[in-house]
Amino acid sequence: MKKRSKGYEGKVYLVGAGPGDPGLLAKKAEQIIKEADVILYDQLVGDEIIKSFPAGATLIDVGKHAALHKFEQDEINRMLIKYAREGHVVVRLKGGDPYLFGRGGEEAEALAASGIEVVIVPGITSAMAAPAYAGIPLTHRDYASMVTFITGHEAAKEASAIDWGLLAKLRGTLVILMGVKNLQRNVDALLKHGKDPKTPVALIERGTTEEQRITVGTLCDIVDIAKRAGVKPPAVMVIGDVVKLRKRIG
Ligand code: SAH
Repeated sequence: MKKRSKGYEGKVYLVGAGPGDPGLLAKKAEQIIKEADVILYDQLVGDEIIKSFPAGATLIDVGKHAALHKFEQDEINRMLIKYAREGHVVVRLKGGDPYLFGRGGEEAEALAASGIEVVIVPGITSAMAAPAYAGIPLTHRDYASMVTFITGHEAAKEASAIDWGLLAKLRGTLVILMGVKNLQRNVDALLKHGKDPKTPVALIERGTTEEQRITVGTLCDIVDIAKRAGVKPPAVMVIGDVVKLRKRIG
């Protein structure tokens, strides 16, 4: 692994890779990737982007579950700190945008606490790009004047920080990430709190990639429809009247 000249202070570029379509990678991200000595990347970084990594760089797939072992967050933080301290140009490449449900905030905190400079390069989040590619604008003057981004992962936790009662009352668009595993639980929570069962729902799997697939239904039938279709992560779930626009736009 090459090292920078003496006196070079290693820093970590926390870079968003966008939702999968390589055309959605920012110019700045592309430039920084080209200059990287070490790239630690996630499972959600698109294959095309992975193929473009520079030949000389050390590549670490931290999303990979090696036999019986998955990289824990602490371990990732430690590696980032170590490589930066050794004076390398370190790129931490994450799917979508690093600061939207990507644990980028935790990584930036750990780096800052260790005195390492962090440079953030935002990415296009799947939360917006997947619906866009599916023909669903998240807001529209006739349908939704607000949008809420939610993690669907928390439902199993006892002390969930998500107020489903409040969400059920909101009249805007709800966008749920990491929501496939707990689909039934999340849908039930909204219905239980009075959300209209006829509210349109779309699930967009592998959005913006060549394998993008859209499954639509309403709150009362989406669980069955998704089961039959075999919907799998990663998928973005959009709940709200804006889903109807697909017919005209998508
Ligand atoms: N920081 C990322 C989100 C990380 S959380 C971003 O901004 O996009 C992981 C979740 O993101 C997945 O469970 C899924 O809900 C969503 N996701 C990421 N890439 C996706 C894609 N190409 N298509 C659909 N959903 C995607």
